[in-house]
Amino acid sequence: MNAPVNVDAARNVFFKQVEEPLVAYLEACLHCGQCADACHFHEASGDPRHTPAYKLFPIAKAYRSQKSPLSWLGLAPRITEKDLSEWEELLFDTCTMCGRCTTVCPMGIDIASIVGKARQAFVAAGLGPEDLLAAADFSRDHGSPLGLDPGKLEDRIEWLADENEIDIPLDKDKAEVLLTVSSIEMMKYPVSISAMAKIMNHAGVDYTFSTKGYEATNFGYLAGKADVAKIMVTRIAEAAEAVGAKTVVIPECGHAYGVLRWGGANILGKRMPFEVLHITEYMAKLKREGRLKLKPHNGSITYHDPCQISRRGGATEDARYLLDGFATDFREMTPTGNQNWCCGGGGGVQAIGRAAELRHQVFKIKIDQVEKTGAAALVSSCANCRLTMDESKAALGWKGGLESIVEIIADHLVEDGATAKAD
Ligand code: SF4
Ligand code: SF4
Repeated sequence: MNAPVNVDAARNVFFKQVEEPLVAYLEACLHCGQCADACHFHEASGDPRHTPAYKLFPIAKAYRSQKSPLSWLGLAPRITEKDLSEWEELLFDTCTMCGRCTTVCPMGIDIASIVGKARQAFVAAGLGPEDLLAAADFSRDHGSPLGLDPGKLEDRIEWLADENEIDIPLDKDKAEVLLTVSSIEMMKYPVSISAMAKIMNHAGVDYTFSTKGYEATNFGYLAGKADVAKIMVTRIAEAAEAVGAKTVVIPECGHAYGVLRWGGANILGKRMPFEVLHITEYMAKLKREGRLKLKPHNGSITYHDPCQISRRGGATEDARYLLDGFATDFREMTPTGNQNWCCGGGGGVQAIGRAAELRHQVFKIKIDQVEKTGAAALVSSCANCRLTMDESKAALGWKGGLESIVEIIADHLVEDGATAKAD
């Protein structure tokens, strides 16, 4: 039997979230519906309930029940168990927090962030997809959502170092850069971890991984578990401070980057004494400094912008800068950059089993975009996008596939004394 829904707990969390910026957003919505066509879920399903503004309903109702003139007379409707049960799936399964709706909203309403806050109320009520919540709890208890505990991290780093005959530093006492991992990469795409190490070694970076703080993905944030979100950020921050890192580099994971870079200080409640860069930004920095020597890549390439790295992260141009002069036949998809469509699996949706069919439906938008470019290779910089695409590709029988920009760059490094001939 399901546990009873704790509506009062949800109400309390909603009220706590309703601070000034959020109130401004809730009051600002014109109900114009322009956001509908910007959302990949609405685009793929045509379901009006997938309109972004509709996802604001629970938090807006909770706010009005306490703050509107009708509430002063005790006449404003209160959020109910039925409301919570109806919106649970919409808030978790049909929002990847991609931020595309905000780019077309005339009032600039940040629906992605509001959804992130609203999820916390659902969790307080005892709701939320079990698999996503379990991934958050597993991260808290074992260090990562996919079972990458410190011992396994050590084993896999040793194995990758041996396999590739390279140095991969772990637990150095001091380092300029703390390099982190996404367990999706380590468990499913480990080559991208050795690729990061090859690039760091090539450029002579003083870096280390740390068993004290390594998991960059933050399922606490995605699952609406603020306490777990804080634990995950704290682990990385303390590991960075312990080695005296000036920079924390986030691997190919979009949300990991967004949470630490843009939310980390707020989650911790204090300034972080290091900068946070995504690996794409870090590689671009190395290229600007003349520390990346690459042979050109022949063959056509198109780039999928992970939402949290491009649109919400600000690294849209860094990916192009990296590919410029390297990809001899680069083809932008349409739309691209900050307007690019989401893969359908961000915001934790990838980890929600019951959302799989809808995710695959959404992925048809990406297939169409990629095929129109005619490019031979689809490249991106997020392991979560990669996993989403690999699963949807298998489900739909699509022949294309996604490659990692880090792996491609690592495969084209030219060591001193070698000639930079195209492959
Ligand atoms: S943030 Fe993205 S997924 Fe969420 S409602 Fe807006 S467009 Fe849709
Ligand atoms: S586009 Fe903005 S103002 Fe219009 S309905 Fe959507 S959220 Fe509201």
